[in-house]
Amino acid sequence: MTNADDMLSLAATRAGRLAAPGLSARPRRRVAVLACMDTRIDLFPMLGLERGDAHIIRNAGGLATDDAIRSLSASQRLLGTEEVVVVMHHDCGLHRASEDAFAQALAADGVLPTWRLGAFDDVEEALRHSLARLRASRELPVRDHIRGFIFDPETGALAEVEKPRSR
Ligand SMILES: [Zn+2]
Repeated sequence: MTNADDMLSLAATRAGRLAAPGLSARPRRRVAVLACMDTRIDLFPMLGLERGDAHIIRNAGGLATDDAIRSLSASQRLLGTEEVVVVMHHDCGLHRASEDAFAQALAADGVLPTWRLGAFDDVEEALRHSLARLRASRELPVRDHIRGFIFDPETGALAEVEKPRSR
């Protein structure tokens, strides 16, 4: 039996809990979270989120890729979010991965994708780069509340990568 079979069976037993009748698709707290797909990041308790509060966009690394920007653009322009929180973490699978080896493996399978893996050597630098890209992305009409955090799965600590300007 695959996970998919188990998942479908389980969902059938708890439709009442999964239903959200009347809950708006517009995030209640007007925030979108861009985070790494890492299994150890449990965003809802980490950030104090409830269902209906936020858009959650996850990818390998939590990087501000073209597709992350697509989703954030839809989040802001169609569904009213005005704030972005980016969550990266220590011990990421992309940390010190080999961009070249990954591209070579794809090429060996005859694939030349337009995207890059996004491997990085320094998580803070990678996060600052993502924040800079988001702040320069006019796809996002609201860019004055974009913050970046780094999670340590070993200790549970969540730290901001740079202090916001005093407001
Ligand atoms: Zn990661």
